[in-house]
Amino acid sequence: MKLGILGAGPKALAIAAKAHVLKQLGFAVPELVVFEKDGVAANWRPSSGLTSGHLPLGTPPDKDVGYPYASFLWGDAVNRRINAEMQAFSWQSHMIATREYGEWVDRGRPAPSHLQWAAYLEWVARKVELPVVAAEVTQLELEDGRWRVTTSAGEHHVDGLVVTGPGDVRSPANLPVHPRVRTVADFWLDFAWNPRIEGRSAGVVGAGETAATIAAALAAANPGLAVEIISPQAMAFSRGESYAENHVYTDPFQANWLQLTREDRRHFVSRTDRGVFSVAIKQELDRLRNVEIVPGLFTGVAIDALDQVVAHIAYAADRETRIYDYLVVSMGFDHTGFVARLLGERARAALTGHLGAWTQETAEDAIDQWLAVKGFRPRLHLPMLAGLNQGPGFPNLSCLGRLSDHVLAGYVPIASVTHLPQPFFAEHDL
Ligand SMILES: Cc1cc2nc3c(=O)[nH]c(=O)nc-3n(C[C@H](O)[C@H](O)[C@H](O)COP(=O)(O)OP(=O)(O)OC[C@H]3O[C@@H](n4cnc5c(N)ncnc54)[C@H](O)[C@@H]3O)c2cc1C
Repeated sequence: MKLGILGAGPKALAIAAKAHVLKQLGFAVPELVVFEKDGVAANWRPSSGLTSGHLPLGTPPDKDVGYPYASFLWGDAVNRRINAEMQAFSWQSHMIATREYGEWVDRGRPAPSHLQWAAYLEWVARKVELPVVAAEVTQLELEDGRWRVTTSAGEHHVDGLVVTGPGDVRSPANLPVHPRVRTVADFWLDFAWNPRIEGRSAGVVGAGETAATIAAALAAANPGLAVEIISPQAMAFSRGESYAENHVYTDPFQANWLQLTREDRRHFVSRTDRGVFSVAIKQELDRLRNVEIVPGLFTGVAIDALDQVVAHIAYAADRETRIYDYLVVSMGFDHTGFVARLLGERARAALTGHLGAWTQETAEDAIDQWLAVKGFRPRLHLPMLAGLNQGPGFPNLSCLGRLSDHVLAGYVPIASVTHLPQPFFAEHDL
């Protein structure tokens, strides 16, 4: 049995670490193969175009590849043993191994930068000897009841497939190709090379954390630049970060996620994740005098005869154009489109036939407890789309340990354990 994972990010590492522990405890685990085009933890480095690398991690680093250390599928005693063994891959263990733990605690447990987080993920990858195929996946096709994964370095066949990563950067189809009109990916690559912007004004389109982070970086590096965040919500809402909200991300079952109405689940996600700013970035924006929020729905951008960037904005019945020296379009990510782009003809027809249509809505509605498309074989795990059906923490870093249990439970028979280390049945465990 072979399980393929597209992307060597935190999700792949969480699954690999759990598989490693389950194997150590005597379970029959699937062989893993991870396809990665740019290196382990690539999306947390500046070369990804998603970050400067120096941005702070939004979630606490304790939400690491084992979090919340509450396996629940393998029987009480085994679960406790798994939770204990998984701590070898924790953020704390990494800090101890690199002799930084005491200092990190004494400094008040600061958020690591994305680059520090990448170093942690690389450390986990080394410890589990992550089996990586260093190649870009170009197609996912069905063949003889398995997935045929075509990469830039050849073909592989797997019995199940997990697709990770945020997906494609969303941008309007008619975005002009111009050095002063940038997508998120262009922006961070430019910014790493030269953070100074010529001119007096910049617009940032978007209402989420990425837009806020870009606006803050631009404004801080260019005090003379007036930065406007163009937001359809007309306001910078800070996200809910209290215990009640956080706990739903960590443990959707205890928090009765599955009992909530669909409408309430969507409302929760929009209050806590999509289109809201974290309290930390909101505080940073509040300190910057050269950032403002402009209400409006971005409808397009053009370059006029004077080579000016003209953004078109709609708000209620009003239509407005605003001229900027520089514009960044940060409209989120498209995971469903990313998967669709990779599907071969047979796979696309089979999935479309299975679901009626391949859209964000049909895909989200079909995600089962294994974080895969319900009833579809071979399994296609899409944790990025599991938020609505299974819990809002599955698409992000909020419960990676739980995520790994959900995925692996589809491949590891609970009764497959053949040998358990002796202390396993110690009195205190039972
Ligand atoms: C800048 C930024 C900051 C974030 N901060 C947080 C945070 O603090 N907390 C949080 O919970 N969430 C955060 N997120 C959300 C984040 O996307 C997820 O939480 C997390 O990255 C998911 O991990 P992952 O394993 O799915 O993917 P990733 O870490 O994104 O890894 C995906 C990997 O897939 C590879 N890949 C992509 N396409 C291919 C292909 N065709 N072939 C081969 N390999 C491919 C990429 O190179 C990449 O290494 C952040 C996202 C961004 C963009």
